[in-house]
Amino acid sequence: MKLLVVGSVAFDAIETPFGKTDKILGGAATYIGIASSILNVESGIVSVIGGDFPQADLDMLTARGVNIEGIEIVKEGKTFFWSGKYHNDLNSRDTLVTEVNVLENFDPKIPESMQDAEILLLGNLHPGVQLSVLERMKNRPKLVILDTMNFWMDSAWDTLMQMIAKTDVITINDEEARQLSGEYSLVKAAKKIHEMGPEFVIIKKGEHGALLFHDGKIFAIPALPLEEVFDPTGAGDTFAGGFAAYLAKKEDFSFETMKSALIVGSAMASFTVEKFGTEKLQEVTESEMIARIKNFKDLTTFEVEV
Ligand code: AMP
Repeated sequence: MKLLVVGSVAFDAIETPFGKTDKILGGAATYIGIASSILNVESGIVSVIGGDFPQADLDMLTARGVNIEGIEIVKEGKTFFWSGKYHNDLNSRDTLVTEVNVLENFDPKIPESMQDAEILLLGNLHPGVQLSVLERMKNRPKLVILDTMNFWMDSAWDTLMQMIAKTDVITINDEEARQLSGEYSLVKAAKKIHEMGPEFVIIKKGEHGALLFHDGKIFAIPALPLEEVFDPTGAGDTFAGGFAAYLAKKEDFSFETMKSALIVGSAMASFTVEKFGTEKLQEVTESEMIARIKNFKDLTTFEVEV
């Protein structure tokens, strides 16, 4: 199955307790595209960049098999830029700079070659843009996955509600799930979010793993305990990319397959945080991926006699 990804392709400048970077490659769609290429899934990105974006980074995506026909280049414009600084515990960060630049007037265009994508992953962008992408697909994809954040709850509530109503799978972090639902209990929050539309609700809990809710069932996974977390940027996007790519590979959207997809997404995200930006993810081989999934299995499999 083909995966269509909509999201930012960006420059990031990141500061963590371990060091800082100048402008490096970032953006939600970038992480998602690289993650899906590790599983050899056919993917394409719809986004917009400026004339300042390096050709080498576009070539890297193409070499990985990511279709970039949907990345519009505004020659006289500047690429989206985000800068963030992590606190010592790495669980929270301050956004220092957001220069929206060419994303401000983003008018997404879906190339003919990606019109038949069965899975649509809507990365974190204005819900109005997410909706327009869905409307511009000739046929509704079989699965619509939505990533969003509190910023859109504060600034575009009604549009976000329209988008959520058309979503099959929503991925959201715990605090955002609480804000969206008005419920502190994540179980109650998931129930309310189901009522808004999505049949599957994924709540991410950072270093504490993730929960998948569907039809009264709950599946929980931990995050892989790592000796060192270097830079958490893009972990959520990598998770969503690994999750969606696995479903595309298996061509199945059952609860059982989604459980496995959750593990794959988490395993991928555990690589992203080991180096700055996309650096580590770009180095990961399929066999390293498989080894890490096995680590997950060893971590979580047990038998109890009662
Ligand atoms: P995450 O760490 O998963 O929240 O994702 C970080 C990525 O999101 C970075 O590479 C940024 O370029 C990108 N990003 C940050 N803010 C925005 C925004 N307002 N719109 C789109 N992408 C963003």
